Amino acid sequence: MELETRKARLEHASYLRLSKGVHWVSGISLLLMVLMLGTMILSYIEHTTLYRPFTYTLYSWQALLCLAGLLYSRRRPQPYTHWKTHLLGFITLFSLSWTLVIYHVSEVSRTLTSAELLAELMIMMSLLGFYASARITLTMVLPVLSISTYITYLSADHSVTLASQQFIITLLVLYTGRRTLYHWFVNSITKEHDRQLLLNQLNLLVSQDQLTGINNRRFFEYELEKQFRACRREQQPLSVIMIDIDCFKQYNDNLGHPQGDACLKQVANILKGCILRPTDSVSRYGGEEFIILLPATDLAGAKKVAMRIKTSLNEAALSHPYSAISPLVTVSQGIAQLEVNQRSSQLIEQADNHLYLAKAQGRNQFYAQATS
Ligand code: GH3
Ligand code: MG
Ligand code: MG
Repeated sequence: MELETRKARLEHASYLRLSKGVHWVSGISLLLMVLMLGTMILSYIEHTTLYRPFTYTLYSWQALLCLAGLLYSRRRPQPYTHWKTHLLGFITLFSLSWTLVIYHVSEVSRTLTSAELLAELMIMMSLLGFYASARITLTMVLPVLSISTYITYLSADHSVTLASQQFIITLLVLYTGRRTLYHWFVNSITKEHDRQLLLNQLNLLVSQDQLTGINNRRFFEYELEKQFRACRREQQPLSVIMIDIDCFKQYNDNLGHPQGDACLKQVANILKGCILRPTDSVSRYGGEEFIILLPATDLAGAKKVAMRIKTSLNEAALSHPYSAISPLVTVSQGIAQLEVNQRSSQLIEQADNHLYLAKAQGRNQFYAQATS
């Protein structure tokens, strides 16, 4: 699995968090608008009608913005190029519009809804919904806090001290609170990322051969069972090729173990280059033995792969001065296709028997069922 960098993961998580924040804040705001409009319609008779058209226009506009917020936050699960700019634009509009509503409430319907309560609710929601971005939180909070401070200033007999106290203390609480929430957020994302990284490394360790870097036998056993069941279910053929390097003991004994290791790596790479489909796999089966699993491939297809291996090795021309067969490194291959009612272990046994026959017939060749 391809893993995002820590930074990209954090960006993605912030995007999701903020989208959810927009969804939540818009949803609650819409509910508030409906409640406020309902209360106003029921009680407006007692109040002046002077502001009525303006009220309906403003509240409808705000309700539309809330709907837009709900739709926007449902749109895409992945961050897109200009999401930050779009979000900032939307929040600016949303916040200014809420500021107008709060001011309007303080002017025309003091007894129906408390403007201060509305402002406090908005500030609290901004903190909880948008803590993943300081800029978005501030953009949402500053206009609302300013109008709330102004309302306090008016209602407290133009007391600058009280109003500025409210402004500074709210900002301070907001700043420290957002930082705490953001630290917690980054911490949890980072931990999750590191856990995923560790899991990927562990997966690689248990399924990868240390020397050659290709799949190991554990991976093969797992993959064989998986493909065995899939091919049975879909009534598709399944073939394997068991490969063994010829006269490798002589190579090792004469050229040394490190040189032998280097040769194994080269052969592994060549084999990897010989499989084409994403479902095909090559694994190191034992010392100098490899196995290729070919799902949805019949014997004719497997023979083509075996031929490709023979040609590729010949082209690579890895020198083997101590081979009794050829001056180059060669392999013998046993090919088998899964038969009806055969178990997966029997398929491997058959490929092993065919490998033995390929060796017996003189090496540097493949053996598949009756003919090779
Ligand atoms: P044949 O043609 O019949 O396959 O003969 P062979 O010599 O290739 O087969 P044999 O089974 O007798 O020897 C396999 C040798 O492969 C034994 C060992 O020297 C070598 N070998 C096995 N694993 C490794 C390894 O991890 N690194 C190295 N360098 N050599 C290995
Ligand atoms: Mg062997
Ligand atoms: Mg061998």
